[in-house]
Amino acid sequence: KEKNGNKKNKKVVDFTKIEIEHLPTVILVGRPNVGKSALYNRLIRRREALVYNTPDDHVTRDIREGVAKLGDLRFRVLDSAGLETAVSSGSVLGRTTEMTAGILSRTQFAIFLIDVRVGLQPLDLEVGKWMRKNAPGIHTILAMNKSESLDDQGLLTSESAEAYSLGFGDPIGISAETGLGMVDLYEVLRPLLEEYVLQNPSIKTDVADCLDPEDVKTPLQLAIVGRPNVGKSTLLNALLQEERVLVGPESGLTRDAIRAHFKFEDRSVYLVDTAGWLKRSGQEKGPGSLSIMQSRKNLMRAHVVALVLDAEEIANARSSMKHAEVVIARQAVEEGRGLVVIVNKMDLLRKKHKSIMQEVMQVVPNEIQTVIPQISGIPVVFVSALEGDGRLSVMNTVVDTYEKWCVRLTTARLNRWLLKVMSRHSWKDQATQSRIKYFTQVKARPPTFVAFVKGKKQLSDTDMRFLKKSLKEDFELGGIPIRIMQRLVS
Ligand code: GDP
Ligand code: GDP
Repeated sequence: KEKNGNKKNKKVVDFTKIEIEHLPTVILVGRPNVGKSALYNRLIRRREALVYNTPDDHVTRDIREGVAKLGDLRFRVLDSAGLETAVSSGSVLGRTTEMTAGILSRTQFAIFLIDVRVGLQPLDLEVGKWMRKNAPGIHTILAMNKSESLDDQGLLTSESAEAYSLGFGDPIGISAETGLGMVDLYEVLRPLLEEYVLQNPSIKTDVADCLDPEDVKTPLQLAIVGRPNVGKSTLLNALLQEERVLVGPESGLTRDAIRAHFKFEDRSVYLVDTAGWLKRSGQEKGPGSLSIMQSRKNLMRAHVVALVLDAEEIANARSSMKHAEVVIARQAVEEGRGLVVIVNKMDLLRKKHKSIMQEVMQVVPNEIQTVIPQISGIPVVFVSALEGDGRLSVMNTVVDTYEKWCVRLTTARLNRWLLKVMSRHSWKDQATQSRIKYFTQVKARPPTFVAFVKGKKQLSDTDMRFLKKSLKEDFELGGIPIRIMQRLVS
């Protein structure tokens, strides 16, 4: 599992929801012929690019501006022909200075390109000097372009050491022509642009919380659901131990706000909408009524849904789930929640023949696999809430599911993985040349990934299933819903 030692909640910015004029701006700088235009074209994906006019006309004449797409990142990108003229002519001309100063004042980031094949040139040093003098507040990333022919060794040694001497930090190796290193560029840009957006509250977008799985203070929202009489209240009491229900109805609080809260191993756990069924429990005994279960809306508020089943009922019926339970399990998964199935009242089976207990322990996981075929390994816990042995096994499973659900895998790690996975499978569409260029996680809770597919056709369902299966196995993400989307790239 990823351990980055960051104890704070991680914010994840959705760049696709930011209006164009509020997107962070990145300017491409460098002497002529280093590949600025090539990189610009790659970033805006020319054909689908939205090029628009800026108010001052003399700016648009010399500077191209478009919206860059890099994975799920969006930013405005400027190709600095004006700056280039200024530097290459050896003197900074009045008009150009004025113009570039205007441009630089509304730019937050720069990518400084050099040509790794010819090494550092005097003009590169001049661009560096110019940037330091004129754009001291702009965060500059150094990129060694045309790196496609160099192996990793080459990049790590002489060229990057030389480039490092420019004073803009560690260079990254890219190729505007082949797309090499775009993942590294993404990895460097993402946190910088994200920080910029988060520090500018005027920029409207969706910010999702990705709670660090290592953070013990994360408020886990747990919904305990099930038909009447399966033992939800009894289980709740076992979970709460001496704490009981801590939060009662206070004046001004709606019923939705009534929440029970307890600690499990230093972790806060909130119970979602338990008040609803606590009140009615024991009164509504209608078989399988959904009224007492969580509404879909309430399920959405939960991170993990614990569905409680009655072991004795299963033993008697030789089948584990009633229709209402199947519905709620499916809903939980469709809504992207983590699902944990709890088979309660196991003590009643212990009094019976051993084979009955074994049968129940087989039937339940099999049936869950049948009704929710898209996820294998949904955890099933067998407990007796009455005898109080459920707390540890239930909560360990809930927490484990929650941590998987919150996981964030770095793009670098995913793409190292992708290389291995690509060689493991005979890809159906190899003939049509559809292959995955790169793979990135765009969201956690639940983990959501995008496969960028180069080619004319989307990957087949078989290929996508293989990809999902490998992802689940290799990163231990079994038992939770994960989503993979694909995007065709040219
Ligand atoms: P600019 O003057 O900085 O905008 O540079 P251009 O984008 O016009 O590129 C200059 C030349 O370098 C062109 O011939 C490009 O085809 C070539 N070029 C750009 N990027 C790469 C690259 O990553 N690899 C290689 N081999 N050539 C590149
Ligand atoms: P709820 O309606 O889902 O909240 O279920 P309750 O917690 O009110 O439990 C319904 C009945 O089942 C009560 O009589 C409980 O004592 C009993 N019960 C709950 N858990 C267990 C258990 O693990 N074993 C046994 N034998 N009975 C249980």
